[in-house]
Amino acid sequence: KKIVIAIDGFSACGKSSTAKEVANRLGYKYIDSGAMYRAVTLYFINNYVNPANPKEVSKAMENIDVSFVFNERIGFSETYLNGLNVEKEIRKMHVSQRVSEVSAIPEVRKCMVHQQRKLGRKKGVVMDGRDIGSNVFPNAELKVFMNADMEIRAERRQKELLAKGELVDLPTIEENLKQRDKMDSERKENPLIIAEDAIMLSTNFLTLEEQVEHVLQLATE
Ligand code: C5P
Repeated sequence: KKIVIAIDGFSACGKSSTAKEVANRLGYKYIDSGAMYRAVTLYFINNYVNPANPKEVSKAMENIDVSFVFNERIGFSETYLNGLNVEKEIRKMHVSQRVSEVSAIPEVRKCMVHQQRKLGRKKGVVMDGRDIGSNVFPNAELKVFMNADMEIRAERRQKELLAKGELVDLPTIEENLKQRDKMDSERKENPLIIAEDAIMLSTNFLTLEEQVEHVLQLATE
């Protein structure tokens, strides 16, 4: 029986690598909800949209189309903004530094949550984010909440950025992760909260393979 798996947690705890692999092994669809907020943020940056101006925000949301397209070569889907592949660009630091501000805007959340629910209406989906188990899919059959120590998260994120050709020092990364944790937890509209029925998974001492197996085990119980 196919189910919905919600994977939430703080920034850079290994959610997306785990979720992606779990989805692949189960033959499920993987949806990176953070990528959607990142794509919206990139649009705001490129088009000088003022997040504090509701009219500008509404107009922007009408003009934004975020989608995922499967890339045969790498075996995963990539994020598209208005028909352009933005997968690389949305992971960069300049987007990370603005995304929590943009994702806190009620209208942005309303649009994205609506789209996420549509994408997940057929079961057999793994979605990762901040409010998936608590808000987007409160009835998800499996909810996992991932966490790891700040030092580990920052080091992992630094490696990922470096692999993509961006060199960022650790204090800058830590600062960004802390800031996002805080803003994501304190915003009014569906903040990051741990769903009551979520299973906690600390990834400090786990390899990616162990994380994947753990979630697969829970999914097939
Ligand atoms: O998962 P990722 O770190 O790429 O998410 C980027 C940002 O998008 C988060 O820091 C948060 O501000 C926002 N986000 C959100 N709700 C989600 C997923 C991401 O607000 N479900």
